[in-house]
Amino acid sequence: MKMPKKLNAYCPFCKKHTAQTVERVRKGRASTLTRITRQKLRANGIGNQGKFSKVPGGDKPTKRLNLRYRCGECKKAHNRPGFKAGKFDLVES
Ligand SMILES: [Zn+2]
Repeated sequence: MKMPKKLNAYCPFCKKHTAQTVERVRKGRASTLTRITRQKLRANGIGNQGKFSKVPGGDKPTKRLNLRYRCGECKKAHNRPGFKAGKFDLVES
């Protein structure tokens, strides 16, 4: 789906509608010693990949989006309940 980069939305800090910018929350660097990263290292492409193969089962094809809404007036950011989308683009409105 496409979403505008700037929109008017409710700011819980200013307690009114303000112009806000949408930013995606990026993943931090993954820890290398977790159980799941060790499992992924073992899945080398030979045989059944189990949960690391594409659908069905295992890793989901669409992921829940993590967006941050930053208020233009107080510069504070807040989150909203995420939603799922296969493709996601932020467009200039
Ligand atoms: Zn605000």
